[in-house]
Amino acid sequence: MGFHFSQALIRWSKHYGRQGLPWQGHQDPYAVWISEIMLQQTQVSTVMQRYPQFMRQFPTVKALASADLDAVMALWSGLGYYSRARNLHRCSQEIMAKYAGQFPRTAKELEQLPGIGRSTAGAIAAFAFEERAPILDANVKRVISRFFGVTGDQQSHETVQLLWEHATALLPKSKSQMPIYTQALMDFGATWCTPKAAKCQSQDQMCPMKSECKAHELGQVDLIPAKKKKKESPTFTTNIFLIRYQDEILLERRAPKAIWGGLYSLIETPWEPIEPKINRSKPSDVTSLLNQTVLSKLLSKSDLGSIASVEKGHVIEHVFSHRRLRMQPWIIHLKRKWSHLSATLDWICTRRLKEYGLPQPIRVFLESSSR
Ligand code: SF4
Repeated sequence: MGFHFSQALIRWSKHYGRQGLPWQGHQDPYAVWISEIMLQQTQVSTVMQRYPQFMRQFPTVKALASADLDAVMALWSGLGYYSRARNLHRCSQEIMAKYAGQFPRTAKELEQLPGIGRSTAGAIAAFAFEERAPILDANVKRVISRFFGVTGDQQSHETVQLLWEHATALLPKSKSQMPIYTQALMDFGATWCTPKAAKCQSQDQMCPMKSECKAHELGQVDLIPAKKKKKESPTFTTNIFLIRYQDEILLERRAPKAIWGGLYSLIETPWEPIEPKINRSKPSDVTSLLNQTVLSKLLSKSDLGSIASVEKGHVIEHVFSHRRLRMQPWIIHLKRKWSHLSATLDWICTRRLKEYGLPQPIRVFLESSSR
């Protein structure tokens, strides 16, 4: 056809592409990889602040691989989706062990590494090695769906397969254009062909794809891609225990596969679907609540006798992407430190909390309670 999507997009990016983002223009696969992982599920404005900090602390794959996982988790604190940080660490170690610290150069090989999906592998291969590998993140899915008028369910295997085929067909012929094209596609999806108010719907209707875009032709820009039906997010409740002895607090390292996996957090009762009982417990009930936690088999009568005071805190609400959590804090002061606890429990001095990866709402709570 006379119209070349890739060339129109590259021309567009010279005038309207995003400039000056700290991760742009890199051919270093490590820098591309870190930015791509951080940008998944995190807003650009947040990544702009956190990416330079991460690169300063871990400037190379070797530095990341030899770091302590706790230091990586601490730096990731507040970015959410912590499996990304655990996978970054694991992946860097695999690159050191299997590839002597050099990133494999093809999307196919990159995709085999922990935490690197097909689209991220495509981005690294395109930016760092000029491979003709497509990307298909949420923004790109939208652009391609609209351009080709793909109306199918975006979660279905068939639709995703079709979108990959379209994404591959649109690639520029020349390998050397892959970095600029890939960046342009990301920028176009993020700034012009946006979920609401796409550029072609604005007054000037200025979009280089307009004459060929199926969704525009059919007047279905707002209907493509098909919207997901929103499910009510369930609410869970838990009790959390801030157990203090002088300037130390008792924290538990969470299991790797759990929510907030691998982070340090307060000891808690199992999460339960919302239950009105949470607000009715009294400080005198704290022993039975502690019996529902990891401490149940670890505390002796004399340990429980060393509780000097119990205070009930204000409920903390936290919203995850698919659920809500209401946490009832209990602040417990001890006369004597509990010892002989399990390997996942640690007494940590409050001054050193910054060195540990903590879930953001727990960090905020601890900071406000130590004021
Ligand atoms: S014409 Fe509209 S829907 Fe089509 S690519 Fe351009 S901005 Fe997106």
